[in-house]
Amino acid sequence: MIKFLDLFYQYQSIQPEIDAAIRSTIEQAAFVGGPAVSAFEQAFATYQQAEHCLGVGNGTDALEIAIEALGLPPGSEILVPANSFIASAEAVTRCGHRVVFTDNDPDTYTINLVDLERRITTRTSAVIGVHLYGHPCDLDGLLRIAGRNDLKIIEDCAQAHGAEYKRRRVGALGDIGTFSFYPGKNLGAYGDAGAIVTNDAELARRCRMIANHGRIEKFDHLIEGRNSRLDGLQAAILSVKLQHLDNWIDRRNVIAGLYLNGLGDLPGVSLPVIREEVRHAFHLFVIRLSERDSLQRFLKNEGIGTGIHYPTALPKLAAYAYLNQASEPMHANTLDHELLSLPIGEHLSDEQVETVILAVRRFMLKAAG
Ligand SMILES: *Cc1c(COP(=O)(O)O)cnc(C)c1O
Repeated sequence: MIKFLDLFYQYQSIQPEIDAAIRSTIEQAAFVGGPAVSAFEQAFATYQQAEHCLGVGNGTDALEIAIEALGLPPGSEILVPANSFIASAEAVTRCGHRVVFTDNDPDTYTINLVDLERRITTRTSAVIGVHLYGHPCDLDGLLRIAGRNDLKIIEDCAQAHGAEYKRRRVGALGDIGTFSFYPGKNLGAYGDAGAIVTNDAELARRCRMIANHGRIEKFDHLIEGRNSRLDGLQAAILSVKLQHLDNWIDRRNVIAGLYLNGLGDLPGVSLPVIREEVRHAFHLFVIRLSERDSLQRFLKNEGIGTGIHYPTALPKLAAYAYLNQASEPMHANTLDHELLSLPIGEHLSDEQVETVILAVRRFMLKAAG
């Protein structure tokens, strides 16, 4: 059995540290807020090279709070990549803005800047730059276009903890960045958790108020906010795991290298293209082929777990039928049935990766011949 994801394996590899962190948080009874949360916020700000970090309830809340804190004109349009998890778009609508779906590049799968620029109108106020699969989007290009058109940039870093663009960590390169610590993410909690980072002190203060009932001190509610706080237990677990994250990302890059070498010559399979001067976090290793479904079935029979990210482009979901973007000729709208995520993560040995490579090769050579 080659698992797509193995969270219990990871726990076992760091069990004494995790158990001690959980125990200490319970002994202090610091279940919401408290020293573990502050310590993690500081450590994660440093790790992501951002001046401010705020822990919140999950990655979707992080997006909503960030968008609300930006104070964009009500009803304004926000550009969202058509190939992403629905949260990237949901947060826009929930904050009273209009989603405008934008195409993805067919090779890096991040937001396509030519299509993006074409969709800017006088009503556009911001863009959600998703670092999809852990690969930084073209931030220089995005910053240039945003600067020319007075747009805010929200970096959705839910899949990109530790990813770098030109030697700088993602998150605080635009106006504000959001993270998810959903268990399966590269840095995952033992439940729901998320964070917001920014270099803008005022924006950070507004996020902190919104996430905690509109207050800074105990009962001075300055505005109506909401409750989206990071648990002490999750923060303590995340602080332990953060110390291992760079090793885990390095291991993901080694595995990606093995896949790129082992599958590079196969006709009919497109491998992910890595931009120059980036550190890919390789949350996912996504290949593209027309026989996606039969390869997935074949690998399942061989005991190899895979995933699909995402089976339906966002414009084609029932939730977005009202936007009428489902039949637009976008790469995202046509490639969704060709994407397959191969297993990647520190739970895999070189031998297991080799087994996956050989299985994919066998399938493709049989299909060709
Ligand atoms: C996981 C994810 C989110 C949402 O995070 P949650 O913590 O599950 O709310 C948002 N955007 C992207 C791109 C994601 O992958």
